[in-house]
Amino acid sequence: MKILCIGRNYAEHIAELQNETPDAPVIFAKPDTALLQRNQPFFLPDFSQDIHHEIELVLRICKNGKNIEEKFAPTYFDAIGLGIDFTARDLQSKLKSKGLPWELAKGFDGSAPISQEFKPVAEFQDLKNINFRLEVNGEVRQQGNSSLMLHDFNKIISYISQFITLKMGDLIFTGTPSGVGQVKIGDQLTGYLENEKLLDLAVK
Ligand code: MG
Repeated sequence: MKILCIGRNYAEHIAELQNETPDAPVIFAKPDTALLQRNQPFFLPDFSQDIHHEIELVLRICKNGKNIEEKFAPTYFDAIGLGIDFTARDLQSKLKSKGLPWELAKGFDGSAPISQEFKPVAEFQDLKNINFRLEVNGEVRQQGNSSLMLHDFNKIISYISQFITLKMGDLIFTGTPSGVGQVKIGDQLTGYLENEKLLDLAVK
């Protein structure tokens, strides 16, 4: 399986990092070794002094496909969960300033915790109105709603599949809303999809 991610998909997050709004979705990948499951703790790596949390809705791909038209995209994902796109912001800034790829800042071990439970798509009344949030030590830090995405689920799937064949079991991180920030040892991160706690992990 592979993990694909979209960057700069929420206007307020683009503004907080003073990035430019892209014309086309910004896509990057994380290796499967980035996955962190079953609420295992996240160990801060020693190569960064500024690891940020980015809570995101995550799509689970259920069918192989290439060149998927937007109108058929809904048949290619069957469940939605939560993930954190941990980012070594200091390293990413250094790489960005040199025009270099972000892989090491985004794809390091443990940089992609996902919820154990993914909710079947059929359980959502409206995919364009999904609320999610991240709390750090019980305090809300990030709040998002899928209506605020610049590129919606169907567009993301259609766009990626022009370049990269999607396969059953692949995961797509769909971008983070504003409120990203540094995590510290001892923090407890809890992620909610609507009002259900799906993620609960400690930073060590
Ligand atoms: Mg992200």
